[in-house]
Amino acid sequence: MIDLHVHTTASDGTLSPTALVGLAAQKGVTALAITDHDTLEGVEEGIAAGAVKGVEVIAGVEMSARWKRGIFHILGYFIRTDCPALVAALERLKRAREERTHKILANLRDLEVHVSPEEVNAQASGGVTGRPHIARVLALKRYVSTMQEAFDRYLRSGRPAYVEKKKLEPVEILNLISEAGGLPVIAHPHTLVEDGLTALEVIIQDLLPHGLQGLEVYYPKHTPEQTERFLEYARRYDLVVTGGTDFHGANKPEVELGVIPGRAPISPVLVEKLKERHARLAGPGPAAATTDQPRGALP
Ligand code: AMP
Ligand code: ZN
Ligand code: FE
Ligand code: FE
Repeated sequence: MIDLHVHTTASDGTLSPTALVGLAAQKGVTALAITDHDTLEGVEEGIAAGAVKGVEVIAGVEMSARWKRGIFHILGYFIRTDCPALVAALERLKRAREERTHKILANLRDLEVHVSPEEVNAQASGGVTGRPHIARVLALKRYVSTMQEAFDRYLRSGRPAYVEKKKLEPVEILNLISEAGGLPVIAHPHTLVEDGLTALEVIIQDLLPHGLQGLEVYYPKHTPEQTERFLEYARRYDLVVTGGTDFHGANKPEVELGVIPGRAPISPVLVEKLKERHARLAGPGPAAATTDQPRGALP
C-alpha cells in the first residue's frame, strides 16, 4: 500500500512528519509522499523518520493555481528542497498566507468573533497557516460546534470572513516544480470537471508543453466513472498515474491513510513508474552531467 498525497503539521495536517511515518509503518504503507500546501518544511523530518521506520518518503509539495472556476491544485514529486527559485516562491506564499490570516481575523472581528494571530499560530505549530487552523480555534472557543460549521458560517468562499488565497499561474507552478527537479502532477482532477470533462482535457492540453507529467487518478472523492475517465486521459496524453488520500489527520477525520474507499490499495507500481519518469527526465545526457558537478566547480 502507498499514499502519494498527505499533509503534516508543516501545513494543515494534525500529525507531525514523524508521527505520520509511524502511522504509515503501522498500517503497512510502504511509500509516502509528503505534499504539504506551499511548504517543504515537513520533508526533511519525514525522510529521516522514514529511514528509521523503513518507509520510503518522497519529497513533495502541493501548490494552488489560479483558475477561473474554483480549485486547481498541482502536486510536485521528487522536489529538490534546496532549489533557490522554489524556496523563494514558497517564502513569498508563506508571507501572503500570514497577511491573509490577518485579514480573515479582521473580518471576524467585525462580526464580533475574536481570534488572535497567536491562537491561530498555536494551532499551526510553526507551519504555514490556513483556514483549517482558524476553524479549529473557532471550534475550541465555542464560536461554532464543529470545524465544518466554521467554514459554512464564516470561512468558505461567499461567507463573510472569506479572503482569497494568493495563487500562482499554473505555468508558473509547473516551471518552479520542474526547476526543482520535480514532476508536476494535476491533483484531484475532479475539482476541474464541474463543467463536464472537457475543462480538464483542455487544461491538460494547455499544460503538456509546459512540462505537465502526471494526473492524480486515484483519490477518495473520485467516482468509479471519473477514475476510468482520468485513466483514459493519462493513457491518451502519456501522463504518469498517481494516487493519494489527501490525509490531514484529525482535520479530515473521514480520510484514512492509504485507503481509497471501494478500491484496492494503491499499488506500489505507481511509485516505480513515477521514478522511471523522473529518471527519464533527469538524464542521461548533458543535463544530468551538469547536475552531477559539485557546486562551485564551474568558473
Ligand atoms: P486554505 O489553504 O487556507 O485555503 O485552506 C484549505 C483547506 O481548508 C482545504 O485543504 C480543506 O481541508 C479545508 N476546506 C476548504 N474549504 C472547505 C469547506 N468548504 N469545508 C470544510 N473544509 C474546507
Ligand atoms: Zn490541506
Ligand atoms: Fe488539494
Ligand atoms: Fe492536499
